[in-house]
Formats: sequence, structure tokens, C-alpha cells
Amino acid sequence: MRIDLHAHSAISDGTDQPAELIRAAVRAGLDVVALTDHDTTAGWAEAAVEAGEHEITLIPGAEISTRIGTSSVHLLAYLFDPDEPALAAELERIRTDRVPRLQRMVDGMRALGSRVTWDDVLAAAPAAASLGRPHLADALVAVGEAQSREDAFSRLIGAGSPAYVPKYAPGTVDAIGMVQAAGGAAVIAHPWAHGRRGPLLDQDTLARLVAAGLVGLEVDHLDHDEATRAELRAVVRALGIVGTGSSDYHGLGKQGYDLGVCTTSPQSYEAILAASRHGTDPVT
Ligand code: AMP
Ligand code: ZN
Ligand code: FE
Ligand code: FE
Repeated sequence: MRIDLHAHSAISDGTDQPAELIRAAVRAGLDVVALTDHDTTAGWAEAAVEAGEHEITLIPGAEISTRIGTSSVHLLAYLFDPDEPALAAELERIRTDRVPRLQRMVDGMRALGSRVTWDDVLAAAPAAASLGRPHLADALVAVGEAQSREDAFSRLIGAGSPAYVPKYAPGTVDAIGMVQAAGGAAVIAHPWAHGRRGPLLDQDTLARLVAAGLVGLEVDHLDHDEATRAELRAVVRALGIVGTGSSDYHGLGKQGYDLGVCTTSPQSYEAILAASRHGTDPVT
């Protein structure tokens, strides 16, 4: 079984439409793929129709923007009811705030001398239900001010840059509770991506999240080096939760993060299925 539980479509900041993502997952030899667009479930229906045409199981999900203090924490949520009112309202709030936030970043870039416009950002995100910095990065590439998303993030729009504006995000404990209440299972994405994601989650914090209902941690991810993965495997064992592995595929938006480059064991997958009350069923 080849299981990849973290992938983005053009509904957020990937470049494949949801149906294309499913076909790419089939080509990559996956048996199970989760669609986890940032803060939106708008791609689920198209992905489910395509998955129904192939020998692949779709796990509907989302990568929810949350925070602990000022640290950004990405929460993978699987198999929740997309119509459960509290969670749906929270996802809408996050998405809605992304717009003025990104507009402020465009203003900031222009104040620093950039020619990029809001229309350039919208042109870079034709299918997106959830707008983010990668679309601003693409717009900066389009106007010739960056070479790639990676280049834009490292020089112009990263968390430490003058144009950076934070976005609204609920607390991680609250978000885990909302996912559970909507029948889903929650896993922290790339918890210890050293040097890229700011302060790390310590074991005490993780223990609090487990008490709140956290089911697992993403262990095998390209942003984790081998030492980090070994540490995380020990943390997972100590906390009695599951470790997952995933690609964090973004199509052409993240070079090397190919579908299936990291995978989740059948045991961890089964534990996630068992922990969710299937607010939504897997699509087989
Ligand atoms: P936002 O949620 O709008 O703040 O944008 C953050 C998203 O940008 C992350 O979830 C990643 O998908 C993507 N991202 C972060 N760093 C990079 C990078 N260096 N290169 C490409 N994409 C990135
Ligand atoms: Zn992304
Ligand atoms: Fe993430
Ligand atoms: Fe992601």
C-alpha cells in the first residue's frame, strides 16, 4: 500500500486542478491520497468524481492554518464533515482574512519599490478558493522580480521580510477540538521543519495537543532531515500517537515534493481512519 496524506491542488496553492491531482496520484502508483488544500474543502467534489474513476482511495482533508502564540502551526484534518457549522465558519474566517492580508502585502511590496499589483496576484490564482503568499510569489515571478516561489520566499515575502503580514489563525487546541467535533482526525503537519517554520513545538506543547485529541504527527516530510525524523519517531512513541509520511505535493509550485516521495504506513493510516468518526467517508 502506498499512502500519501498531504497534497495541494490549485484550489489553494498547488498547480494541478483536483482531478489532475488524482490522475497524477494514480500515475505515481498511490493507493491512497489525501487532498489537503489550505483552509478549504472546495476541491473535494471534483477530486471525488475523478477518484471514483480510478483504483485509488481519496481521503478528503484540509491543512488548517492555526497558531500557538505567534508560531504558525499547520494542522492536517481528515474525514471531517465540511458542513459542520463551527468548523466551516472557522475555515471561512481564515480564508476571508487571507484576502486583505495579501492585499496589505502587495501594498508593502509596492512601498518597497515593487511593480506587482493585486491584479497580478489574482491572475496567478485563477482557481484558488484560498489565496496565499505562493500566489504573490507567482505574481512576482510573472513581473520579473523573482526567479521562483522559493526565491520570492527567501528574499521578499518570508516571515522575516519587511513586506510580511501575518494572517488570522485560530489556536491549535481550539482547531483540534473543532475537527474532532466535525468527526475528523487531526495530525500536525511538518512539526519540526528546522529553520523554515520558526520556533519548534516542544514536547510539553505536543502533550497538550494530544490531550486535546491530536492523533498524529507528520514525521517523514522533505523538510525534516534524518535526525529530525528519528527524534520525531521517538516523540510519537512517547506520546502514544501515530507518525505519518507525506509529500506535501504542490504540483509545479514546490520542486521535488513529488507525490509518494514520503509515505504513511498502513498501520498509521488505519489508526487515522479509526480515530475519525467519518464526518465524511473515504472515496473509494
Ligand atoms: P501563507 O499561508 O499565505 O502564509 O503561505 C504559506 C504557504 O506557502 C505554505 O503553506 C507553503 O505551502 C508555501 N511556502 C512556504 N515557504 C515556501 C517556499 N520557500 N517555497 C515555496 N512555497 C513555500
Ligand atoms: Zn501550500
Ligand atoms: Fe504546511
Ligand atoms: Fe502543505
